[in-house]
Amino acid sequence: MPRRVVVVGAGMAGVQTAVALREQGFTGTVTLIGAEPHQPYDRPPLSKAVLLGKAEGSAFDVDFEALDLELQLGREALGVRPADHELDTEAGPVPYDALVLATGAEPIRLPGAEGVPGVHLLRTLDDAERLRPVLARQHDIVVVGAGWIGAEFATAAREAGCAVTVVEAADRPLAGALPAEVAAPMAAWYADAGAVLRTHARVERVEPGAVLLDDGSRLPADAVVVGIGARPATGWLAGSGIDLGAHGEVVADHHLHTSAPDVYAVGDCASFPSGRYGERLLVHHWDNALQGPRTVAANIIGEAVGEAPAVYDPVPYFWSEQFGRFVQYAGHHACADTTLWRGDPAGPAWTVCWLRENRLVALLAVGRPRDLAQGRRLIEAGTPVDPRLLADPARPLKAAKA
Ligand SMILES: Cc1cc2nc3c(=O)[nH]c(=O)nc-3n(C[C@H](O)[C@H](O)[C@H](O)COP(=O)(O)OP(=O)(O)OC[C@H]3O[C@@H](n4cnc5c(N)ncnc54)[C@H](O)[C@@H]3O)c2cc1C
Repeated sequence: MPRRVVVVGAGMAGVQTAVALREQGFTGTVTLIGAEPHQPYDRPPLSKAVLLGKAEGSAFDVDFEALDLELQLGREALGVRPADHELDTEAGPVPYDALVLATGAEPIRLPGAEGVPGVHLLRTLDDAERLRPVLARQHDIVVVGAGWIGAEFATAAREAGCAVTVVEAADRPLAGALPAEVAAPMAAWYADAGAVLRTHARVERVEPGAVLLDDGSRLPADAVVVGIGARPATGWLAGSGIDLGAHGEVVADHHLHTSAPDVYAVGDCASFPSGRYGERLLVHHWDNALQGPRTVAANIIGEAVGEAPAVYDPVPYFWSEQFGRFVQYAGHHACADTTLWRGDPAGPAWTVCWLRENRLVALLAVGRPRDLAQGRRLIEAGTPVDPRLLADPARPLKAAKA
């Protein structure tokens, strides 16, 4: 059994790994090293309750002391030397028997906007705390990017009474995640909430008090919030010899093991091969940072005692709360999959299903949590479904089994 496990990154994936190690009976030392100075916290509330001042913070409800987990916060890892089994940190080298990389992701910055007063990102508690008074002032806000974060921020800003314009370079919201026919009804949600959505809108320049678009328009902006995506926070691994992928993510195998001995990777910073979907997945959602750590902990413990390693092959899941709607997605779809609607997308509740050879591979449920729960089980089991039955929104989704 390894005696010293070191986890880098004290976000959801790092904390859950440490907790799972204890839950699964690991008795050696567990050290959690995190760059942020705050008590480890959960991110989803940052774009929701925390932003609106409905919650002070979102610290994890974990008793680190009682679990005998050593926290080293406000400390950045600078590199790894796998051959020496050592992690380099600002405070010097830290030896490990097993190392877990859980450094998450960092937001992509808008070129040219850095350092311009009033430009914000939304990834950390500090970001949310800086944005809270901005919302309270009910100013003109421009959001760059109509992705998940952009939509959630716009929702909160409208609720706070701000004038909100969302600019999106693509022809629709969520262009990277959903096909045009699915995203189309979601575009209307912006106007319903009193926000202006401008698609095909590229930012030319940001200057204090305004955003200039490439069509010459000038949008007044007391604040600008940039939500154009995130990339794995792995720059610090350069030179470590650990394999990184095209998006800078740590390339893990189906046991969440990296290319270096005794080094695992989990959460937003890592991709893994999905046996279920036949492709490598890089998932930037909360549930992946909850599920993956259990596999990592099992494999750290199991490797030492010669157990067959556990395989990580989840049905990915995430949710988003935007414009008064609860949006949930499970699975993973590809362009070639057939889409099938349950319910009217102009209405308040509907579901889109993606089918491959009459099996459900993914679904997006808006205000239909029961569809999501039942669909997720059908995906997990790979149950064949009857598309005609599936298309009837009055029928429970689980009754669509062929
Ligand atoms: C505002 C917001 C809202 C979200 N809402 C939802 C939602 O509604 N639903 C959903 O499914 N998902 C949501 N997500 C995504 C979800 O929060 C992430 O998928 C999840 O936090 C990933 O956890 P993680 O531990 O892998 O990474 P992170 O949460 O990014 O944690 C990584 C930690 O590692 C630290 N770190 C980085 N580099 C180093 C280093 N070199 N040394 C030491 N520490 C380092 C970072 O500071 C960070 O604290 C949201 C994300 C954000 C930002």
